Amino acid sequence: MSYNGISQQVVSLFTSLRKLHQQQSSITSHRKKTISTAIQAYGFLCHVEIDLIDFRKLPCNCSNHHNWVLHVQDHFTKYSWILRLKHKETQEVASSLESLFWMFGFSTTLHSDNGKEFKSKVMTDFCAKHKIKQVFGAPRNTSTRALVERAHRTSKEHISNIIKELGLSPNNWCVKLGEAA
Ligand SMILES: [Zn+2]
Repeated sequence: MSYNGISQQVVSLFTSLRKLHQQQSSITSHRKKTISTAIQAYGFLCHVEIDLIDFRKLPCNCSNHHNWVLHVQDHFTKYSWILRLKHKETQEVASSLESLFWMFGFSTTLHSDNGKEFKSKVMTDFCAKHKIKQVFGAPRNTSTRALVERAHRTSKEHISNIIKELGLSPNNWCVKLGEAA
C-alpha cells in the first residue's frame, strides 16, 4: 500500500515537473528567438544614412547637368555610394535610391536630416512601399559631414578643393563620380 502510495506521489511529481519543464523550455525558446532577431537587426543595410551635397557652384559638363550629389552610407559597414542628381527634387532622390536599393537590397531604416526632399509625401510613400522606417535628425556619417561643412562655405574654390581631394577634375567630376559610385 505504502509502496503504491509513494509510487503515485513520484509519478504525480514527475508529471508536474515535466509540465513545468515544458513551460520553461517554451519561455527559453521564446527568449532565444527574440535575442537572435535583435542581433540580426544590426548589420548591412539595416541603417542607411543619406545626405545631399551642393554642387551648384560647379555644375558638371555632361548632358545631364548634375548639380547635386546624394551621399548614401551604410552605417554598419561604412560603405558609401555617391549618386549624381540634376536637382535635389524628392522624386529624383527617391528614384535614385530605389535603383540603388534594387541592386544592393532595401535598407530597414533610412536616416536623413529634416530636409523637405526627405520629408515629402513621395519619400514617405517610397519608404512605406518598401517597408523602410524613416528616421530624421542630422546623419552621423563622418565623411559627408566633412564634405558638407566645406561645401557650406560655398565658394567655388572650396568645392574645387573637394574635387581635387577626391582626385576628380573640375570639368568631369560627374563622370569620375559615376565611375567611383
Ligand atoms: Zn553630369
